[in-house]
Amino acid sequence: MSSVRIPIKCLTSQDPGFRETLLSSLSLPMADDEAIDAAVVRILADVKSRGDEAVIALTHQFDRLNVTSVAQLEISRQELKLAYDTLSAEQKSALDVAAQRVRAYHERQKIEAGCHSWEYEEADGTRLGQKVTPLDRVGIYVPGGKAAYPSSVLMNAIPAKVAGVKEVIMVVPTPDGARNPLVLAAAHLSGVDRVFTIGGAQAVGALAYGTQTIPSVDKIVGPGNAFVAAAKRRVFGLVGIDMIAGPSEILVIADGTSNPDWVAMDLFSQAEHDELAQSILLCPDAQFIEQVQVSISKLLPEMPRRKVIETSLTNRALLIQVEDMSQACEIANAIAAEHLEICAAEPRKWADMIRHAGAIFMGHYTSESLGDYCAGPNHVLPTARTARFSSPLGVYDFIKRSSMIEVSEAGAQTLGAVASTLAHGEGLQAHARAAEMRLKTVL
Ligand code: NAD
Repeated sequence: MSSVRIPIKCLTSQDPGFRETLLSSLSLPMADDEAIDAAVVRILADVKSRGDEAVIALTHQFDRLNVTSVAQLEISRQELKLAYDTLSAEQKSALDVAAQRVRAYHERQKIEAGCHSWEYEEADGTRLGQKVTPLDRVGIYVPGGKAAYPSSVLMNAIPAKVAGVKEVIMVVPTPDGARNPLVLAAAHLSGVDRVFTIGGAQAVGALAYGTQTIPSVDKIVGPGNAFVAAAKRRVFGLVGIDMIAGPSEILVIADGTSNPDWVAMDLFSQAEHDELAQSILLCPDAQFIEQVQVSISKLLPEMPRRKVIETSLTNRALLIQVEDMSQACEIANAIAAEHLEICAAEPRKWADMIRHAGAIFMGHYTSESLGDYCAGPNHVLPTARTARFSSPLGVYDFIKRSSMIEVSEAGAQTLGAVASTLAHGEGLQAHARAAEMRLKTVL
């Protein structure tokens, strides 16, 4: 196959208006959002009012599955186990290793990330603390419209189970009834309790409102397409959600010491997800940027998903020449990418300067794809610059905290006087009286 040079947008940090051009290149055209949101509103209302009946009709409409009851859309635990048992030895071993590493990382996270109860006692005997409890029932959305994602099953279900969630309900669309054995096997390995082969906004609605067959959950997590994202946004408040996921992004900071083929393939690895995915390279070395361009042209024709990659790179990729690596880190903080690779001789030196990124992959050997499947940390990451204020999916998404307050008799005297003054200031007499009644000398 002949190599063709892809017209990728090239910028330099010296360009006039560089910051504005960069920020406008990061945002997505929002033209279709209203239409999607209107469709989602209709679907959610239908599921809310008709329950199972709506789920059956919508699954027929969007995934071409003909069933007469939602029970026919449920996959039994025996079927999940059978899917695992009948995998090839190679697939079984790969899934086992990935699941074991994801579990080990999240077990560690449970200890390190403050996912446990704590308490302390003040001098007067007043005790204060926080009680941590897992959510009772969680829904995990596993995408399945255009591709199957066994890794997403592991990344969503394992942290939930590590957190101690009693019941994990998984939904996954199976267009035309095609069930992916690896997805089912991953559900078995992760300890998912129930699986329904439904997708899109109707699946989110069913989990949020509950139907005659599908139980309502307390929180819905997991990535999905624009219909899934819009539905999660709409049901938030009734249930918790993890985040609103946008198209995937990778930002590579390279100092010019990497193999350009490796960098090109890492840029492809997110571009191949979706035409709207975004791949960006920041590098101070113009010659290296040119080498990456040559690698892109050389490697693209070999890629089975080259059409998606080409569209994504043409419409959304950026190759940016920067002054130096420090400036690259500064720009990376403004981009706040979902995946940030630092392909450099001294990756930790530059990682120290990074404040905003979903996941930071350091060094020439750490391809982002290892993080997608099996390194251990979660691959559900904040997109669309939300890494400025949010974090990867983790055990902490499946727990909640209750404040614990036990005031001693002596504590009630000091705190009672303070509360009484403030309550009177707010004009809330019952608040003031409740505190005053516990004072030894009633005011
Ligand atoms: P999906 O499961 O999200 O969506 C499929 C469902 O969309 C269908 O079942 C259908 O109900 C609904 N749908 C499709 N067309 C519709 C229409 N016209 N009207 C109403 N509903 C409609 O699967 P997908 O489409 O393959 O999208 C998966 C997305 O998840 C991709 O963007 C992918 O990049 C992303 N993803 C992200 C991660 C991550 O960790 N961030 C991981 C895996 C996948």
